[in-house]
Amino acid sequence: MRPSFHPRLIHGPFGDPGLFIPFLFQKRALIFDLGDINGLPAGDLLKISHAFITHTHMDHFIGFDRLLRLLLGREINFSLFGPPGFLSNVAGKLAGYAWNLVDNFNYPLILQVTEVHPDFTLYRTYCCRDRFEPNREAIRRPFNGVLLAEPAFKVSAALLDHKIPCLGLSVKERFHINIIKDGLKNLGLEPGPWLTDFKQALYSRTDPAVQFEVKRPEQKAPNRYELGKLAERIAKITPGQKITYITDVVYSDANNEKIAAFAKDSDHLYIEAAFLEKDQAMAGEKYHLTARQAGELAARAAARQFSIFHFSPRYLGQESLLYQEASEAYKGCL
Ligand SMILES: [Zn+2]
Ligand SMILES: [Zn+2]
Repeated sequence: MRPSFHPRLIHGPFGDPGLFIPFLFQKRALIFDLGDINGLPAGDLLKISHAFITHTHMDHFIGFDRLLRLLLGREINFSLFGPPGFLSNVAGKLAGYAWNLVDNFNYPLILQVTEVHPDFTLYRTYCCRDRFEPNREAIRRPFNGVLLAEPAFKVSAALLDHKIPCLGLSVKERFHINIIKDGLKNLGLEPGPWLTDFKQALYSRTDPAVQFEVKRPEQKAPNRYELGKLAERIAKITPGQKITYITDVVYSDANNEKIAAFAKDSDHLYIEAAFLEKDQAMAGEKYHLTARQAGELAARAAARQFSIFHFSPRYLGQESLLYQEASEAYKGCL
């Protein structure tokens, strides 16, 4: 299976936490957390359509300014999601600059901001043309765990405890479409951008009887196939990929239960491990996990693969101890 999402941590384990998630063959990405993002080239940042912020401690949100600066004047509506208090946090950031020159921009950037509460969300837009002043009341909507639902995937959140509410985040494909190479060959077709349209048609539950066109550069007229019949020949459907990101959480029964359920059967779980188990008391005081706790939670969630990050700087040069501790805990619990 060739995964659709190619997540990567923005930094090594001591840097600001953050997961960049580009999509295969698309100029599109999601990002979980906006800490220091200077390591990401502008070309990557401009692929981001939606940013999801676990909480607004500085190491998770200081990159907002860089992203905003890059987005100004571009033809894009940008969506941001964050925990309770997020609308004020974003408004506060926006109020920190003078916007008297915004009329010079060709395109008016609109920020679509969602604040997530346990059973409702608050949504508000901030438009560059209005100098980012919120122009009407926030819209309240019920929240059932899903923040973004598109035909191909959804992004979910769970409210966790970090002494303040902190979002656990997950992206899951609805199902995965594997392209059968021999099937293409038998029909004399070459892979190309048309496969993205083909997949999109399947995700959108397009009528299988519809005629689907495969355009080939060397041919003037496209080949036409009945969508359902083409799918039978060239596509194999398997369960969708699931990526989960958990950071800045205390090890407590309530959190652990929520994390295990939320991260259940992740293909890849990214989970913080700020401390070693020997410093468990400190981890508890700071509302963070130890490497051992991270490994145990990864096993409890039956994550196929997991990565730890957000190490305390006190362990510089001792990274291997954290990796070893997490790995042993994971294997010990399986
Ligand atoms: Zn943090
Ligand atoms: Zn934090």
